[in-house]
Amino acid sequence: MQTTNHKTDAIIIGGGLAGLTAAAFIARQGKSVRLLEQATALGGRARTKEQDGYFLNIGAHALYRAGHGIAVLRELGIEPQGKPAATANAYAVQHGVKYTLPGGLVSLLTTSLFGLSAKMELGKLLGSVQKIDCQPLLKMTVREWLKQQISHDEVSALLQAVIRLSTYVNAPDLMSAGVAISQLQKALSQGVLYLDKGWQTLVDGVREVAVKAGAVIETGAKVERIERHADGSVKAVRLADGRLFESNVVVIAASPKLAVSLVENGETTALQGWADQAIAVKAACLDLALKRLPVEKATFALGIDQPFYLSVHSAAAQLAPAGGALIHLMKYLPAEQNEANEADERGLEALMDLLQPGWREVLTQRRFLPSVVVMHALPLAKQGGTQGRPEVEVKEVPGLFVAGDWVGKEGVLVDASLASAKLAAEKIAAYHPVSRAVAV
Ligand SMILES: Cc1cc2nc3c(=O)[nH]c(=O)nc-3n(C[C@H](O)[C@H](O)[C@H](O)COP(=O)(O)OP(=O)(O)OC[C@H]3O[C@@H](n4cnc5c(N)ncnc54)[C@H](O)[C@@H]3O)c2cc1C
Repeated sequence: MQTTNHKTDAIIIGGGLAGLTAAAFIARQGKSVRLLEQATALGGRARTKEQDGYFLNIGAHALYRAGHGIAVLRELGIEPQGKPAATANAYAVQHGVKYTLPGGLVSLLTTSLFGLSAKMELGKLLGSVQKIDCQPLLKMTVREWLKQQISHDEVSALLQAVIRLSTYVNAPDLMSAGVAISQLQKALSQGVLYLDKGWQTLVDGVREVAVKAGAVIETGAKVERIERHADGSVKAVRLADGRLFESNVVVIAASPKLAVSLVENGETTALQGWADQAIAVKAACLDLALKRLPVEKATFALGIDQPFYLSVHSAAAQLAPAGGALIHLMKYLPAEQNEANEADERGLEALMDLLQPGWREVLTQRRFLPSVVVMHALPLAKQGGTQGRPEVEVKEVPGLFVAGDWVGKEGVLVDASLASAKLAAEKIAAYHPVSRAVAV
């Protein structure tokens, strides 16, 4: 078996945004860092495919301006370039009919989606949502909270759609209301950015910071196992090609399932419990590139009776060549549905027919992804939402750290990935492998 013996202070497994961010912060501490990514390109779920001047993220991606992630990126000197998602020309779609989406006061007054009394209830809620204290609601499900607070079914349905939009989670009976409302507050307070040239710009930006700080990054490097000292602490990582890289500190910046499989006897650690409990949040994505947009003033739609989404991302950000359009559609898959079926795909196309009739004639690229993991662990009410997620430090395996959208108490989606990556780097700065090994 081939062996390489360059010992580094830390090894990062996974070259998505979490792994790259951890690498950048650790390297900035003056430590030697090696990042190993199994794919031939960096970025994981934040990759962007560029073709003929169109930039396709893996499904709809929006960066929360009030989120923790943007703050972490700024700490690394990265200012995401993009535009706020356009909120004009937005529709709510119910039973195949489009209505003005009531997001603000004007649209609330003009929409025919529901009657006066429901409008008043929604108006009152929209006016008070920022004042809600989310902490006491962490152990309550979204469904329980809606039942307690909302009397009109149609308002409840709209709120569920808006929660799907801001969290990607379509599981009101499982999701923590505290987490959902906290995310809604972020969405309503500062909105989101669609990024010019896609999320790849974040990947490239963080990679550059990490490399400048001295991190060594290798793609096409699949890690198969983490080897441990007799005292259980981290010793080295073994690659699929047989190479061995030594380090007393390893960060797994990938899925909880992978974490279990990499650690020898991982099934006897807390990792197994996290992997067992994690319910992945998935979406089906239809990504479309058009030569032109058939209907200029129809750039956003949110399904009310169906968990569908449509947004013309190029209406805000630079994602298509002059005159062209880049559109993301999605079905937020319910927890019990693993992947989209034929009817779901037809349903998304029907939404395009409703908003953008004639789109098929100007189609230049089409990609359907029946099931992608948006978040590795749905923030469950029964676990107290994000408060119940694992910590970055795996205490039973000294030297092992985890980062990703399923780790730490901070936020959801990329906010959780970036916050946990930064926290892992901070914990590593305070971790002393040698003294610990001696003590054992
Ligand atoms: C459809 C969709 C829409 C989304 N929309 C949003 C949004 O609007 N807002 C938002 O904030 N977030 C959004 N997200 C989530 C966001 O993309 C993720 O939070 C973020 O990209 C996760 O980064 P990560 O590094 O934690 O994980 P990943 O990107 O999954 O990276 C993990 C990496 O580990 C690598 N790896 C796995 N196994 C091994 C191994 N054995 N050896 C070496 N490498 C390995 C993988 O190849 C991968 O590159 C969305 C995600 C999807 C899929």
